[in-house]
Amino acid sequence: MKIEANRDICIGAGNCVLAAEDVFDQDDEALVVVLSDQPSDDQTTEVRNAVAQCPSGALSLVEG
Ligand code: SF4
Repeated sequence: MKIEANRDICIGAGNCVLAAEDVFDQDDEALVVVLSDQPSDDQTTEVRNAVAQCPSGALSLVEG
């Protein structure tokens, strides 16, 4: 599974960081930064929650 983040549509809500703080961060403009774009199996659930809770649809998962 690979995470893709579209910083052009991120609105800096920070939900992703709250859901998966080991995987996502925010830069000085509050836009998402992916710390680990290939999360471990342990992180799968929190990453899925983060994607589901992103209000702008900036996050997506590529399975495989
Ligand atoms: S939850 Fe979505 S809109 Fe909010 S910071 Fe993360 S990627 Fe950006």
